[in-house]
Amino acid sequence: MTERPALELFLGDVLRLRRPHPCGGSEWLVDRLGADIGLRCSTCGRHVLVERRTVERRLADFVSRGDATLSAAVGPQPDAGEKPS
Ligand SMILES: [Zn+2]
Repeated sequence: MTERPALELFLGDVLRLRRPHPCGGSEWLVDRLGADIGLRCSTCGRHVLVERRTVERRLADFVSRGDATLSAAVGPQPDAGEKPS
């Protein structure tokens, strides 16, 4: 049941999606990782949260790749976990 490996997304990735934003831009910067992916339109600066599945479906291409090390350092994010004492 693993026909397609999960798409790896990194913070700082720049994606090109199949469906352009109404502003005409089609390149998006990944600035949040989680169940929903935070994308910032690199043309008009609008920020949206999109389901990971939807991002995978609409992804046309990677314009540039982000930072895997940084992404590993920040995720997964504990919501109410331990706090430094
Ligand atoms: Zn836009």
